[in-house]
Amino acid sequence: MKSEHALLSIKGLEITYPSQDGNDKVIAVKNLNLDLMAGEIGCLLGSSGCGKSTVLRAICGFEPLKSGEIYLRNKLVSSPSMTLPPGERRIGMVFQDFALFPHLNALENVSFGLQHLSSQQRTTVAMDWLSKVSLSDKAKAYPHELSGGQQQRVSLARAMAPEPDVILLDEPFSSLDIELRERLAFEMRDILKANHISALLVTHDQTEAFAIADKVGVMTNGKILQWDAPYDLYHKPATRYVADFIGRGVFVKGTVLADNRVKIEIGEIPLDQGHNIEIGKEIDVLIRADDIQHDDHSPMQAEVVAKTFRGADFLYTLKLQSGVEVLALVPSHHNHEVGEKIGITLALDHVVTF
Ligand code: ADP
Ligand code: MG
Repeated sequence: MKSEHALLSIKGLEITYPSQDGNDKVIAVKNLNLDLMAGEIGCLLGSSGCGKSTVLRAICGFEPLKSGEIYLRNKLVSSPSMTLPPGERRIGMVFQDFALFPHLNALENVSFGLQHLSSQQRTTVAMDWLSKVSLSDKAKAYPHELSGGQQQRVSLARAMAPEPDVILLDEPFSSLDIELRERLAFEMRDILKANHISALLVTHDQTEAFAIADKVGVMTNGKILQWDAPYDLYHKPATRYVADFIGRGVFVKGTVLADNRVKIEIGEIPLDQGHNIEIGKEIDVLIRADDIQHDDHSPMQAEVVAKTFRGADFLYTLKLQSGVEVLALVPSHHNHEVGEKIGITLALDHVVTF
């Protein structure tokens, strides 16, 4: 049943909670499968309440399983009939609020999980981890003397110091400034990768997920819909939900032509191999904001109906001749007014259809 080479393997996980009236059950996680390889950073991405934290708690050993199995390094740690206690699993946790001990300084926080070492070794190892997160000079600082980003790095060092098999991070950036988040996500990725640490992160923020993870699982209603590299989630969404959830885009009507091509209002696109759709059939085609390019000289025109300035680019909402609206990301030196008609070209090399 288990995948031999996965560091963390979850098979058919189901977890229920008693409902408020106590008579019924809330199914928080349903038939969830996941394999995380050694050194890999995985991410569960989904909106609030979809079951992300429940999965992490189950991996830690805090939730009994209704059905399924959890393996760490090929060892069964949870099943409906057994739950290895959290203290006997080699897991590090980083929480949304960092959960640092307020009365301990950075060094003491990082030393906390190293009780098995002599006091001198503890200090040496903890200092080493503080230096890996670039905080050697803050060893004596208390949490309230550190910025949010620094507290988060202490919390990461504390989780990494006992050298767990895997680090679990529950929305680790959500209490930080929005501008900081992406930079910190990249920084955290660098630290984890430099130290060959496997991690599973959960977040509701797609930018964060894409910035940090090698593999992302899109979750809804306790299920993972697709577990894939960010690039493939974006360009090859397996379901319409994933297509809608990841990135900006709209569906437009297309008609299947001969030779595996699809005609849409603004051009023709090859259909992915393997789709055997009959000629003449009408299908929905996903058009992302980066599939439409603006070209002042193109004869194909669309009307600007809305625009959002995003710094380097504008996100334009464009009305095609048929009245269908599409999105287009356009470099921000092309500043066109709402109501204006602008030239567009289609830059789409394959069709995503369902
Ligand atoms: P997420 O982390 O994705 O926001 P959670 O795993 O916290 O989601 O919760 C998943 C579902 O389980 C939600 O519907 C939530 O209300 C419910 N739930 C979570 N914890 C409990 C609990 N201790 N008792 C009852 N229901 C819970
Ligand atoms: Mg949660």
